[in-house]
Amino acid sequence: MSMIDPFGRSVTYLRVSVTDRCDFRCVYCMAENMTFLPKQDLLTLEELDRVCSAFVRKGVRKLRLTGGEPLVRRDVMTLFHGLGRHLGQGTLDELTLTTNGSQLDRFAGDLYKAGVRRLNVSLDTLDAERFKKITRWGRLEQVLTGIKAAKEAGLRVKINTVALKGVNQDEVHDLVSWCGEQGYDLTFIETMPMGEIEEDRMDQYLPLTEVRGDLERRWTLVDTAETTGGPARYVRVQETGQRIGFITPHTHNFCELCNRVRLTCTGTLYMCLGQHDKADLRAPLRAGKDDRALEAAIDEAIGRKPKGHDFIMERGHVPSVDRHMSVTGG
Ligand code: SAM
Repeated sequence: MSMIDPFGRSVTYLRVSVTDRCDFRCVYCMAENMTFLPKQDLLTLEELDRVCSAFVRKGVRKLRLTGGEPLVRRDVMTLFHGLGRHLGQGTLDELTLTTNGSQLDRFAGDLYKAGVRRLNVSLDTLDAERFKKITRWGRLEQVLTGIKAAKEAGLRVKINTVALKGVNQDEVHDLVSWCGEQGYDLTFIETMPMGEIEEDRMDQYLPLTEVRGDLERRWTLVDTAETTGGPARYVRVQETGQRIGFITPHTHNFCELCNRVRLTCTGTLYMCLGQHDKADLRAPLRAGKDDRALEAAIDEAIGRKPKGHDFIMERGHVPSVDRHMSVTGG
């Protein structure tokens, strides 16, 4: 089985925001006073499992749980363990997550047991004061402890860093060095215009062409054709042998190879991170015990997957989409 969109792209990757809630309030991601979805609107863990499993039957080979912060959803490990059965059955290649790392000390071992082997941890700075400013509520120490626990549990760690003008631009070398020493892959990401925040996003926006220029003054970056099927372009740092990815939705259009769709915790499917079009999967899911209506709704939605996003980064410009990244799942 495979799902092919109108542009011939095969959809093999589902990202699921299991909660829109988070224990951090990163300045580029959320406003400090966020209104979250009422808990009764959320799909239960059993329903999330049912939707994910329907996608697996339809050809999805990779599942990523994200959020909000996936590890703050109550009993989320039940979902990981449940979904892990698809790995055992050979119908899924990878079960993974994106996390801020705050709860990893508690959950790393259990994630490994559920079949997770790699995970992405978001970390924008190695400076404790800066970390507090960026995340508002986070503690660097706790995240570093969590990352260490993940490594010790046998999980391969990739660090995701959002490049922020005047905030962490001067730290890119330290991040490369630290990741090189620790054996973590590193990916830089440009900010995307999603949801209202307190600041003008142009004040934060740092094109990765600048980051790459800075890095090239100190490191030898060798372009590689390596791909993980995602939007990142990779280079190898000759001095450390380590891989660095660049996700550049603005300076390079990253849609041609898009293989993913995104499910929210209320059962809404977004076929593109940067477009408004969506499909409700909760109603067909709840319509009956068998999954026929659900599967038909998924097919109909994939048939509407758009060619790409239209992110616009300009001073004073309203966000390209009004939902925050935490809703669709970054
Ligand atoms: N809480 C988890 C975490 O921190 O990784 C998962 C959800 S978070 C929304 C996923 C990723 O999206 C994080 O790496 C975060 O830095 C990134 N992100 C959030 N808002 C963004 C934006 N407007 N532009 C670019 N990246 C963003």
